[in-house]
Formats: sequence, C-alpha cells, structure tokens
Amino acid sequence: MKIYNTLTRKKEEFVPINPGEVRMYVCGPTVYNYIHIGNARPYIIFDTVRRYFEYKGYKVNYVQNFTDVDDKIIKKANEENKTTTEIVEKYIAETLKDADGLNIKRATVHPRVTEEMSEIIALIEILIEKGFAYEINGTVYFNTQAYKAYGKLSKKNQDELEAGARIEVDEDKKHPMDFVLWKPKKEGEPYWESPWGQGRPGWHIECSAMAKKYLGDTIDIHAGGEDLIFPHHENEIAQSEAATGKNFAKYWMHNGFINVDNKKMSKSKGNFFTLREVAQEFPYEVIRFFMLSAHYRSPINFSRELMQSAQSGLERIKNAIINLDHLINHAKEEKMTEKEIILSKGLENFENKFVEAMEDDFNTADAISVIFELVKFANVNIDNNSSKEFALAIKNKILSLLNILGLLEKQEDIKEDVLEEEIEELIMKRQEARKAKNWALADEIRDNLKQRGIILEDTPQGVKWKRQM
Ligand code: AMP
Ligand code: ZN
Repeated sequence: MKIYNTLTRKKEEFVPINPGEVRMYVCGPTVYNYIHIGNARPYIIFDTVRRYFEYKGYKVNYVQNFTDVDDKIIKKANEENKTTTEIVEKYIAETLKDADGLNIKRATVHPRVTEEMSEIIALIEILIEKGFAYEINGTVYFNTQAYKAYGKLSKKNQDELEAGARIEVDEDKKHPMDFVLWKPKKEGEPYWESPWGQGRPGWHIECSAMAKKYLGDTIDIHAGGEDLIFPHHENEIAQSEAATGKNFAKYWMHNGFINVDNKKMSKSKGNFFTLREVAQEFPYEVIRFFMLSAHYRSPINFSRELMQSAQSGLERIKNAIINLDHLINHAKEEKMTEKEIILSKGLENFENKFVEAMEDDFNTADAISVIFELVKFANVNIDNNSSKEFALAIKNKILSLLNILGLLEKQEDIKEDVLEEEIEELIMKRQEARKAKNWALADEIRDNLKQRGIILEDTPQGVKWKRQM
C-alpha cells in the first residue's frame, strides 16, 4: 500500500511501526464556530483512511484533538457575553453532531488542551532542559537555531522560513523563526499555573504533547489540511523530535483545499459555507460522497453544480440497490443459474480493482468509479428473471464497497421514493384506460412513471415493470 508522504514528497510503501496496528493523529478544530465545508474535508478523508485500514484488518488508534483555548474562542466568548467554557462546550457538541451526520467515527480519543495541561507543561520543561527552549519574561519560545532540521517538512529555506515567521511588536524572542510555547496571561483571559508564571500554551505544543501521551514518541501517520504544513506541522516536528530525539511521524498526509472561486475557503476570509448550511440543501451522505469523488490531494472548487452532480451520482447507485432489493423480494428463482454462477465469479474483480485504487494513496475517486462499473454490471446482467441469490450477491458487493468508504451504512439511507403499491395502482389505471381506448391517458401514465424511473414492458404475460438504473 502506497501513501504520499509530504515529508519526502514521494509515494512510499506503508510499513506500520507495530505489525497490525496504525497509530494516527489528525489535527482537530478550534471550537468557536460551526465547521465549514472546507474543515469537513480532512475529517471525511482521514475517517475514510482509518476505515480502509480497518477493512484491511488493522487496529487503528486514532487521536483527534479539540483546541479549546485560543484567541478566537476568547473573542467569541466576549462578543457573546459567555464564558469560554460555554462556547467550547456548545461547538464541540455541534461539531460532533456534524461528524455524526457525515458518518465520521468517533476518534479513539478526543483530547482537549484544557485537560492536558500537565503533559504540555512537562514537554516544555523537557525542551528547556535540553536547550531547545528559553524563557523571557514569562514567555517560553522554541529555539529554532538549536534544532538543525527546522524546515524539513515544508522544505523552506532559511529566507522563506524567516519571511513566513510572524513577529508581534511586543515580542522579544532571540530569532524571528522562534515560536511561542507558553505565553503569560492577559487580563480577563483563562490561565493556568506553570513554572513560568500564570499563562497558557501556544498552539503548536498541544499536538506534540497529546500525540506523545496517547500514541507514543513515534507515530505512523500524522494528518491535516495542507495549510497546516507550515508552520503548525513544522513546529510540531521540531518540538517532538527535539524533546524525544526520535522520529515523530513516519508518514505525513495532507489534504488539498476546498476553494471558492479558486480561493481557499476560510473563516477569516469570510468566503465559507458552514456544513450546516450545505446540509440543509444536500443530505450529509451526498456531502461525504462529494468529498470522496475527488482525490484527497486535489483542490476542489466548491459549487452547487458539483454538489448536484454528486447527488445524482449517488442516486444512481441507490436506484441500483433499490432495483436489486425489488428482485430479491420478488425473484421467481432462488438459486443462481449456471450462467449467473460464472458471472458472479467476476464480482471479486470489482473488489480487487477497488482495493487497487485505495492502495494507491487512497484514490477514492477511482474506487468510486469501480462502484459505478459494478452498478453498470448489475444493469446489464439483471432482469426480472434473475435469481434471488444472484441479485443478493451483487447487492452485497455494492454495499460492502460503499461501506468501506463510510457510505450508505444504514439501510434507511436507501429509501424507495416510489412505493410499489402506487406503481401497481397506476399500472391498473393504465390498463383500464387502454381497455376504454383512452390512449392519451394510458400514455400519460406511462410517461409519468418513466419520469419517476419506472419502465413498463407490455409482454404476452401482461404488463411488467422495472426500475431504471
Ligand atoms: P481550523 O479549524 O482552521 O484549524 O481547520 C481544521 C482543519 O480543516 C485543518 O486540518 C485545516 O487544514 C482544514 N481546512 C481548513 N480550511 C480548509 C479548506 N478550505 N479546505 C480543506 N481543508 C481545510
Ligand atoms: Zn496539530
């Protein structure tokens, strides 16, 4: 299995640290707002990565943090006259509600910064002790000049690193690239006791501390959106590797952006759609399907047209399943015929092709194409005379591949929108109209059914109907 590793800019064979186990850390949201559709991308993508590993039999230990102390949270609390705890609790609950809608599994652990303060402080102490961090007036900085590999993930040279570094006016750090590990409290802000006085941690240190605590010094996969490569992940590597002297993460995975008019969708630019908004127009499962229809490293330009096309694609798959269900309930033959036995042997090929796509750096776009090929196979090989066993074999194969991607796991996701009794009733009416030589009405009924995906066939044995795939 190959994974594109941002660290080496190459696809590499995946070899877990411990056989049969995957330890992965995915940077989580800062909780002060509803998540937008861009944020939803890494959550859906890396949940799918996890599910695929599980399908392969790995035990996956999946950690995703909630950043619950941050300037933006404090600002929001002040604006709404609430405590930061109230803001955080509300948006963690809302984020998890969205995650449930998208069928994202709960992480093995969802650690929160406010609950991990002693680990964070202990890690900063180690860095100071080893000469990788220093304190000036209650602020602790990471000493980038002491850590020679700084820049290895983003591949930025010294000039670029310096240009990308932020220097606040009141900062007195030794080098522009140095970054904050701990900052002193400001009036009216939440704070914790530390060896450097009352204050709170900088952003990057939380992930190093949590990954170490829950997954160990070296982890298999570290992931997030590509905007996190620099400075966040670069800084995480510096902190973790300086503290432990070991490799921090073997594989670094980053998803591409969701853009609007070719610009990154982001809260600060204001060009975003919350997931909630989009979910009012399109079911969550369509949103998940939409995200997986592109390769995770490609940018996506978000538009209603693309969402609509994802919706009709998923509809086509669902219709095939409904059609197969209909046969399973009404088939005249139980067992497969000789011809069906031969055909059904080919079903394994679809799974093999699906796996091949996923093994190539999680190419979900190609994996979904395989599901469409399977739908076509059903369309071509199934008719009203097919056996129940054959229909069931195809249906199970489609569902099992969808389920690996976290799609249509619940049967209620696949609803028949046209009821069978209603169809039978309309057919009866059409027969009556024909008997009465009311051809116009008979044709009207036929067209009406056709529009709803029901095809009528007049046979010597009477009228038969099938669902269009
Ligand atoms: P944030 O809450 O901004 O830290 O973002 C949470 C996650 O969403 C991070 O992994 C980001 O990289 C990712 N992310 C943010 N905006 C986008 C976007 N427009 N497209 C894809 N991923 C994004
Ligand atoms: Zn992180």
